[in-house]
Amino acid sequence: MSTIGQVIKCKAAVAWERGKPLCIEDVDVAPPKVHEVRIKIIATGVCHTDWEYLYETEKGMKFRPFPLVLGHEAAGVVESVGPEVTKFSPGDKVIPLFLPQCGECKRCQCPKTNHCRKNWENTQMGVLADGTSRISCKRQQVFQFLGVSSFSEYTVVPDTSLAKIRSDAPLDKVCLLGCGVSTGYGAAVNTAKVEKDSLCAVFGLGAVGLAAVMGCQVAGAKRIIGVDINPDKFEKAKAFGATECVNPRDHSKSIQEVLVAMTDGGVDYALECVGSPDVMSAALESTADAWGTCVIAGWTETEEMKVKVLKILMGRTLKGTYFGGEPKMSLPLDQINVAFGLLKSGKSIRTVINL
Ligand code: NAD
Ligand code: ZN
Ligand code: ZN
Repeated sequence: MSTIGQVIKCKAAVAWERGKPLCIEDVDVAPPKVHEVRIKIIATGVCHTDWEYLYETEKGMKFRPFPLVLGHEAAGVVESVGPEVTKFSPGDKVIPLFLPQCGECKRCQCPKTNHCRKNWENTQMGVLADGTSRISCKRQQVFQFLGVSSFSEYTVVPDTSLAKIRSDAPLDKVCLLGCGVSTGYGAAVNTAKVEKDSLCAVFGLGAVGLAAVMGCQVAGAKRIIGVDINPDKFEKAKAFGATECVNPRDHSKSIQEVLVAMTDGGVDYALECVGSPDVMSAALESTADAWGTCVIAGWTETEEMKVKVLKILMGRTLKGTYFGGEPKMSLPLDQINVAFGLLKSGKSIRTVINL
């Protein structure tokens, strides 16, 4: 029976309030409105950013309204399209984008950035263009995280927040392009613009960091030093291209001093993929003073990092990147809180939920 135009009843992992585990609930997903697309999510990654908005709102995250369906790193199939949608049809394989690409705004026209602002205010507050969400539970509106909400079997997204992909793409793998892989890889290749034969350090070897290692390797870096406080990450980092790994806890000196000594003056590129202001400062200070570039990919919204003016004055560059693999494990939706546990304990690089 066709579901086009009907409300779809399905399962979703609902965050009723911050700091509490997700609850698997029956939700209603309304049909897509104008310029919207309803998709069946096939696989979703569990990103550190999902964790941060649930468990670290008081630490470094701005407030997001609850109840909320998290999830923003996914792949799926178009179920139906709303009026005036021209680029997508039912059956298309797609990756939803938490950062839209309308192709028309000033920022989309500018080659210097990918920061489209279409629907920005709305999606940041968990609603679509008309100010409401398409997901409800127990007759209550459930907000859509970054306008995506992939921890649901079905969701509705704006047609500017969607990328069509090849029909033979393996959705349980390409979902990682929806955040972690694109962010880490892009941090190295697009934002840092890592050069051939350069020295690189990647701080944090989760999905984002490993993708950054991969980006450095593809760019032809000579040395790629992986830095993590969890040594279980080192083997994988080496498989992705790290030439050596360092655990800051094995040293009495600061990690920046260790890296400067290891590289005779500092690395050319340091990529921060942790989301900690202290690590950001360390990453900056581990670069060569006259030309080093530090790119911040790790996320925090309300915290500040310390930058000694002299560290910049000598010629270093500090930049940030927004949205710019391999799944280790697959779990069903009802195991989503286990996935958060695996992410936090570092036992899995990225857990992909099959819906
Ligand atoms: P993750 O939890 O999988 O990996 C983080 C890694 O950092 C872990 O291996 C952890 O052991 C390590 N770590 C923690 N403290 C450290 C320290 N002091 N020194 C060195 N390593 C340390 O996380 P992830 O999903 O890969 O995300 C990484 C960061 O990137 C998060 O802050 C996330 O919110 C952010 N992020 C940003 C964007 C963006 O658009 N810029 C997109 C996705 C994720
Ligand atoms: Zn993410
Ligand atoms: Zn735009």
